[in-house]
Amino acid sequence: MMSHQLGQPPDGPAAERPRPYPRHAAPHTPLRPMWCCRACGQPWPCPMARLLLRSEYEDNPISLSIYLCGLLYEATRDLYRLNPAGAPSPTDMFTRFVAWGPHRRPIVEPGGGC
Ligand SMILES: [Zn+2]
Repeated sequence: MMSHQLGQPPDGPAAERPRPYPRHAAPHTPLRPMWCCRACGQPWPCPMARLLLRSEYEDNPISLSIYLCGLLYEATRDLYRLNPAGAPSPTDMFTRFVAWGPHRRPIVEPGGGC
């Protein structure tokens, strides 16, 4: 018998960035499944994690966008499993994980061509 259900999507990227800075400090990486920062306790990505990620991916902003989208997926899955009734909205999750990242389309395209 053939099933028409799609399989479970594979896991997203490992949440191991940004690297610790300074080198021996606690890393500003997410503590799962709550997705708070393991160094400072704020919702991840905390301001320091954002700063370090921007620096770490300065030469490869596309990789940062892909990484953030993967973690958005992982965090959404964790937080909905943890608290299905009280999980953040998709808009809030997108704003928290992706919207601050490097690739945002300007409201008006530069040059204003047609
Ligand atoms: Zn932090």
